[in-house]
Amino acid sequence: MTPFSRLASAFSTLEATSSRTAMVATLSALLKSLDEDEVQSAVYLVQGRLGPQFDAPQFGFSEKLTTRALAEWSGRPVAEIERLYRTHGDHGLVAEKALRVEKTGRAAPLSTVEVYEALRALAEASGSGSVQGKINALVSLLRRATPEEAKYILRIPVGRMRLGVGDATIMDALAISRGDKTLRPVIERAYNLCSDLGLVARTLYSAGPKALAAFKVEVGRPVKMQFAERVKDIADIVRRMGKCAVEPKYDGFRCQVHKDGTGVRIFSRNQEDNTAMFPDIVRAVATQVKASRAILEGEALAYDAQTDTFFPFQVTVQRKRTHGIAEAEAAYPLRLNVFDLLYADRTDMTCEPYQKRRARIRTLLKAGAGLAPAPALVSGDADEITRYFETQIADGLEGIVAKRLDSPYEAGKRSFNWIKFKRAYHGALKDTLDLAIVGYFAGRGARAKLGIGAVLCAVYDAKSDRFRTLAKVASGQSDDAWIALRTRLEKHAVSHRPARVDSRIEPPYWVEPTLVVEVFADEITRSPVHTAGVGTDDEPTGFALRFPRIVRGVREDRQPEDATTEREVARLFGLQRRARSKA
Ligand code: ATP
Repeated sequence: MTPFSRLASAFSTLEATSSRTAMVATLSALLKSLDEDEVQSAVYLVQGRLGPQFDAPQFGFSEKLTTRALAEWSGRPVAEIERLYRTHGDHGLVAEKALRVEKTGRAAPLSTVEVYEALRALAEASGSGSVQGKINALVSLLRRATPEEAKYILRIPVGRMRLGVGDATIMDALAISRGDKTLRPVIERAYNLCSDLGLVARTLYSAGPKALAAFKVEVGRPVKMQFAERVKDIADIVRRMGKCAVEPKYDGFRCQVHKDGTGVRIFSRNQEDNTAMFPDIVRAVATQVKASRAILEGEALAYDAQTDTFFPFQVTVQRKRTHGIAEAEAAYPLRLNVFDLLYADRTDMTCEPYQKRRARIRTLLKAGAGLAPAPALVSGDADEITRYFETQIADGLEGIVAKRLDSPYEAGKRSFNWIKFKRAYHGALKDTLDLAIVGYFAGRGARAKLGIGAVLCAVYDAKSDRFRTLAKVASGQSDDAWIALRTRLEKHAVSHRPARVDSRIEPPYWVEPTLVVEVFADEITRSPVHTAGVGTDDEPTGFALRFPRIVRGVREDRQPEDATTEREVARLFGLQRRARSKA
C-alpha cells in the first residue's frame, strides 16, 4: 500500500522540473513502486483526472466552495482565505504555503487508493449532495493530509493539476517501470484502441505486455481517430496511392458513434462524450444501424433536406452547445456522413482493408434521413479525381480525402493511407495551423489595459513529446477575446518554462500547454528565433510564421497534443518552396 505522500512528493518534483528526461525518471521510479491495484488510480491522478477523458467524473466544485472548505479546515475566516487566494492564485498553494495545517499526530497516513476513492466519492456527490456535505467530505480528507498532500488533493477538484506531464511521457515512464522503452509501442497501440491510459497501465501490471498486445477495440471505449496527411497536388495522391477511394471532405464535427444494443454514445475527435448534444444522431443510429453492436465514424453536418445541401461550418457549429439543444436540433438537423466502420456485431473491423469496411457500411445502414454512407469515387486517374474535387468545391465542401484501398484503420495515426486535399498551394500558406499556447506577453500601448498583447505558440512533436515554438501571435482578435483568452491562460500559468516546451524566447508568462488556437499566416519562413524545425534537414535555424493571426480562437476540440506537428510544418514549408520554384 503506497502512501499518498509518496505521490505528492513525486508530483512536487515533477512540477519543479524543466527537464523531460528527469521527468520520465521521476515518474518511472514512482510507477515502479506501485502495485497493480494502485497504478490505475495513480495514472489518472497524474493526468489530473479521476478516469479516462470520456468517463472522468466531473466535480462542479466552485472556487467559493473550496474557499469555505479551506476556512473550515484551517479555522481561519473566509475573508482571509480569499485574500491568500488572491496572492497565490491557487488554492493548492494557499493550503501548502500559507495555511500549513498539520494533521493530528494520531491520523493514519492516507494511501493512494484512499485519496483516489475519496475524491471519486466527492465528485459523484457533486451533482446531488448538499453543499455542506461536500465541504465536510473535503475537510475530513484534508484533516488527514500533510500540507504537501493537501496541495494536490485541492487541485484535482478544480482541474488544476498542472504537472506538465503529457500522455507520451507517462507511456515512456510506464514502459521503463515494467522493462524498457521497447514496451512503448505496445502500450501506445493499446492506448490508441481504448483511450484509457489507466486501464492500459493496470493491464500491463496485472497481465503483462502480451495481454496488452492482444488488446482489441470495444464498444463503449472511444478509439483514437485516424488522421490524414497533406500533399501538394492531386498528381501526388495518385503517385503515392495509385488507384484509391476519393471521398468528399466535409466540414462539420467528426463523430465516433458506439451502438450497444439500445444504448448509443457519440465521441468527439478528442474522445469527449457528445451524446447529449446530438439527439437526432442518437435516434438515427437506433433506427438505421442494423447491427446490435457497432462502432461507426463520420462527419456530422447541418443538412437541408429540402434542397439536399449541407450548411457551411458556421451554421453547423451552432449545434455545439450545452443549452437549447432541442431548438437547435429543430432549426438545423444533422446528417452523419458515415465514412468508416470499426466494429460490427462481434467483429473488430479495424484490421480489415478499407474496401471491406466500406462494403459492410452499405449493408449495415437502412435508408433514412440522419445517417448516409459518404459517397466515394474509386479512381487512379488524376484528371478524374481533379474533376471530382472541383465538384465538391462547387458544392460548398472543403475538398477531398483520398484513402488507400487496402489499408486498415490506423487508430491514433496520421499517415499517407489517408490524404486530404483542400485547395491548391499557390506559394503562400493556404491552410491554417492549430498551435498550442506556451506563454504570453503583457500588452503595450493600447493593449496594456488588456494585460495581454501576444501569445507564444508552438507545434508538437510526439516523438520527443516536446512543444517547439513557431510564432508570437499578436493579432486577429477583438479586445474582449484577448481578455477572455488571458483569463483562461492565467489558470494554466506556471513560474518556469514547462519541461516539455523547447523555446529560445523567454516570455514574461509561461503557461502549461493546454489551449490550442487556430492560426493563419502568409507563409512559413526560416528564422533563428524559434525552435520548431531546428535540426530538420540539418538546418540550425527554425521555422517562423509571417504575419500570423488567430482565426478561430481557442479550438475546444483540440488537446495540446493535437496541435499541428513539427513534421507537418516542415512538409508545408517544403510544399511552399516547391510551389514557388514552379511558379
Ligand atoms: P482539418 O483542420 O483539415 O479538418 P484535422 O486536423 O481536423 O484537419 P485531418 O485528419 O487533418 O484532421 O483532416 C481530416 C478531418 O476531416 C477529419 O478529422 C474529419 O473530421 C474530416 N473529414 C471530413 N470528411 C472526411 C472523410 N470523408 N474522411 C475522413 N475525414 C473526413
